[in-house]
Amino acid sequence: MISQADLGMLDGLERALINGRLRMAYQPKISLSDGRLRRVEALVRWDDPELGAISPARFVPLAERHGLIDELTQWGLRTTLRQWLSWREQGLDTCLAFNISALSLDQLDFPDLVERMCRALEVPTDRLVLELTEGATQPLVKLMDTLTRFRIKGIGLAIDDFGVGYSTLMQLRQLPFTELKIDRFFVDDAPSSKDSALIVKSIIDLAHGLGLTVTAEGVETEPQLLLLRDLGCDVAQGFFIAEPLSPDQLMPWLDQFEERWHQLIRSEPQLPFKVPRRYMG
Ligand code: C2E
Ligand code: MG
Ligand code: MG
Repeated sequence: MISQADLGMLDGLERALINGRLRMAYQPKISLSDGRLRRVEALVRWDDPELGAISPARFVPLAERHGLIDELTQWGLRTTLRQWLSWREQGLDTCLAFNISALSLDQLDFPDLVERMCRALEVPTDRLVLELTEGATQPLVKLMDTLTRFRIKGIGLAIDDFGVGYSTLMQLRQLPFTELKIDRFFVDDAPSSKDSALIVKSIIDLAHGLGLTVTAEGVETEPQLLLLRDLGCDVAQGFFIAEPLSPDQLMPWLDQFEERWHQLIRSEPQLPFKVPRRYMG
C-alpha cells in the first residue's frame, strides 16, 4: 500500500521529470596529495513549487519502488554527460561520478545503454564512475555480470557509503570495484576518536591492498581533512571543500580553491592527537 503523501510525491516527481523541473548539482572531490580536482559527483535536486526542496534520500527510493527509477537515471545521466561537454568546452576535462540504483543493475543490457549514451555525446567512458550502494534486498554480489560489463567498457565502479549497511569484505574482494567511499559516519569523529581513526586507517589500507582508490565523504572540518591526508586517504569530498554546486559555480570554485589549498597545507597544524605508529603502517 502506498500512502497518500507518497502518492502525492510520486505524482509530483513524474510531473517534475516531464516539465524539466529537476536539476543536477555537482560536488567536487579533490585529491588529498595535491588539492587538485579529481572528479565531480552528480546529485539530483528537486525543488517543488508546493512541496519545497525534497531530498533525493526521500524520492529516489520512492522512484525505485514505483517504476520511475529508469526514467530518473536516464534523465540524470544524460544531463550530467551534457554538462561534462559544456565544462570541456570551457577547458575542464574532469571525471564524473554518478549514483546508480542497484535496481538498474538487474538489467543485463544496462551497461550497453550507458555506453551508448556516452558514445552519443562523445564522452569517453573512462571519464565516468558509477557509485553503488547496496540495497537491503539486493546483495551486489548477485550483480557480478552487470558490474563486469561496465568494467569491460572502461567505466569505473565505486562502492558508496562503505562501512555501514550491507557492504561486506567478501564483496570487496569478489566484485570489480575501482573505488571505495568511506561513509561519513566514520569520518565524522575520526579527529576526536582514536577508534574511529583506526577504523578509517584500516579501511584505507585494506582498500589500497585490493588496488582501490579511497575517497572519504562528508568532510566538514579542517582537522578531518588533515587527518585523512595523514592517514593516506586519496580523495576527499564534503562541505569543507565544497557543497554540491550548480554547473556555473564549478569554475569560480576551482579558481579560488587552489589558493585555499595552499594556505591549508602551509599552515598545516599539529593533529589533535597522533595515531600510534604501529597503527600507521
Ligand atoms: P550519496 O551518494 O552518499 O551522496 C552524498 C550525500 O551527502 C549527498 O546528499 C550530499 O549532498 C551529502 N553531503 C556531501 N558532503 C557532505 C558533508 O560534508 N556533510 C554532510 N552531512 N552531507 C554531505 P544528497 O544529495 O541529499 O543525496 C543523498 C543520497 O541520494 C545520495 O547519497 C545518493 O545515494 C542518492 N542520490 C543522489 N542523487 C542521486 C541520483 O541522481 N541517482 C540516484 N540513484 N541516487 C541519488
Ligand atoms: Mg554517491
Ligand atoms: Mg555516500
